[in-house]
Amino acid sequence: MMDSFVFPGLTTRVVFGSGTMAQAAEEVSRLGHAKALVLSTPHQKGEAETLAASLGDLAAGVFSGATMHTPVEVTEQAVAAFRESGASAVVSLGGGSTTGLGKAIAVRTGADQVVIPTTYAGSEMTDILGETAAGEKATRRSPDIRPETVIYDVDLTLSLPVSLTVTSAMNAIAHAMEAFYAPDRNPVIELMCRDAMVAFRDGIPTLIADPKDEKARAQALYAAWCCSTALGYVQMALHHKLAHVFGGSFETPHAETHAILLPYTTAFNEVAVPELLAPLADVFGGGSAGGGLWDFAKSVGSPLSLKDIGIAEGDLDRATAIAVKNAYSNPRPIDPGSIRELLQTAWEGRRPGG
Ligand code: NAD
Repeated sequence: MMDSFVFPGLTTRVVFGSGTMAQAAEEVSRLGHAKALVLSTPHQKGEAETLAASLGDLAAGVFSGATMHTPVEVTEQAVAAFRESGASAVVSLGGGSTTGLGKAIAVRTGADQVVIPTTYAGSEMTDILGETAAGEKATRRSPDIRPETVIYDVDLTLSLPVSLTVTSAMNAIAHAMEAFYAPDRNPVIELMCRDAMVAFRDGIPTLIADPKDEKARAQALYAAWCCSTALGYVQMALHHKLAHVFGGSFETPHAETHAILLPYTTAFNEVAVPELLAPLADVFGGGSAGGGLWDFAKSVGSPLSLKDIGIAEGDLDRATAIAVKNAYSNPRPIDPGSIRELLQTAWEGRRPGG
């Protein structure tokens, strides 16, 4: 018998395809704006300038200072640039860092957001904003944070380096994994997550061989949209908490941290809800969801151990203490001993699961 559920509907308009960045002007106008500020990281400034040129009179300029973890000092500069430019909307071109800056501007000014994602991190469909002030990262959710329009342009992902392609895809799969046991899960999100995992499983090996394979890039970006939707519409648990602990308190890189933790957090929760994680075991093989994900990660060259990203064995006690403080709800009870054990396995990079 099917469990009861609530499907909240999806509020963000999505435009998907190749060459769709050319529709940015139309999408800004569609939202009723006469001026939009284009946002990017310093690394993607050139692409942002090309985009601004294509917006013509709608462009209010480019702010290219976006950086990881959305520091409030950068946001303050960006808000000043936004106000000075006369814009009433932003167009965020880039990965999660740029999307984060657009959200931070929107929540302070009421600006509408058109987001053009270029990684698989998945911030674009969510109402979540993580910001760093005085060295501490805090996360909040609000309907004002969720972007109005997302333009997925496959062409923009052709330049994504192979290593970031792999770790960003694992970051996306982590959203799907936690969606399967979310207390507010629903059949629409589950369908999207199953489809996304198959698309990543089949698309990533092709992209390692040829990063410019357009069909595989389209498959991967479609999968990223599905996973971002899962992140934006159902609750996340232990996996995201641990990624937040390492990113926030040990400054580990975002996508790699998710990629490393995923097989271990999956195996940890699989003990409590094997039936809910069975779709992952089906897609990735290996006899268990955690083991199958570890095998997949290894086969695509994804990093497998916390020591690979500079975590010392002596850091694991502190990480455990932070993780069990204000722990998120989770299908398996969280206690210091079992979390410490999970982190030890992840630090050593040992294959988890059966
Ligand atoms: P990122 O946005 O920091 O990008 C990493 C680097 O890759 C940057 O220099 C960027 O310019 C470059 N890059 C991006 N796309 C490229 C492309 N197609 N070709 C070449 N270079 C490219 O990394 P990310 O992993 O996308 O995002 C991480 C950040 O996003 C973190 O701060 C994380 O907290 C946040 N995030 C937030 C949410 C949310 O819902 N709030 C969700 C996911 C991630």
